[in-house]
Amino acid sequence: MLEAVAPQKDVDGFHPDNVGRLTIGAPRFVPCTPAGVMEMLAATGIALAGRDAVIVGRSNIVGKPMAMLLLHQGATVTICHSRTRDLGDHTRRADIVVAAVGRPQLLGADMVKPGAVVIDVGINRLSDGKLVGDVAFDALLGKASHITPVPGGVGPMTVAMLMANTVRAAELGQA
Ligand code: NAD
Repeated sequence: MLEAVAPQKDVDGFHPDNVGRLTIGAPRFVPCTPAGVMEMLAATGIALAGRDAVIVGRSNIVGKPMAMLLLHQGATVTICHSRTRDLGDHTRRADIVVAAVGRPQLLGADMVKPGAVVIDVGINRLSDGKLVGDVAFDALLGKASHITPVPGGVGPMTVAMLMANTVRAAELGQA
């Protein structure tokens, strides 16, 4: 399935060819969600080189490409996942935390150090219909230096990056 789409039209950036290009630092299409996170970090002027970044989640579409992008900007990157032994031990060290799990409010205020940048990729629908992220947003509002809301944070950036990749694919097609 991953190879069913031509790499030059792979606007999600999931084709092994594009995954490989991202890994070696020569990206063609970057997966939209991590690309959107990087745009937000750049637009906010958050320094990445030398910072400790912890990503929670190791999926091919978010966690792994997110790690590559932060690594290429000079961050020291840790990827946590379902088998990580003490999640808080890792996240409490982080200058930048990216949560991409799919568990409502997995990261509470006790899991993040004061002044950290918190990016919430998670989208979870509660039984009352409400959408929440993986982060306890209200509890972290006064503690994090920056925090993205759910909805209205990473989601719209993903859509914007999909549009940007689509335009780029059209341009590549004309070359
Ligand atoms: P996935 O199910 O493929 O991966 C989830 C990851 O979380 C896995 O790597 C797993 O190891 C890890 N995990 C599960 N339980 C854990 C735990 N208790 N502690 C630590 N790690 C744990 O999910 P995905 O496709 O990467 O998506 C993750 C979340 O991000 C979902 O809520 C999804 O809806 C959301 N998402 C949002 C956007 C957006 O645009 N905002 C885009 C893609 C995905």
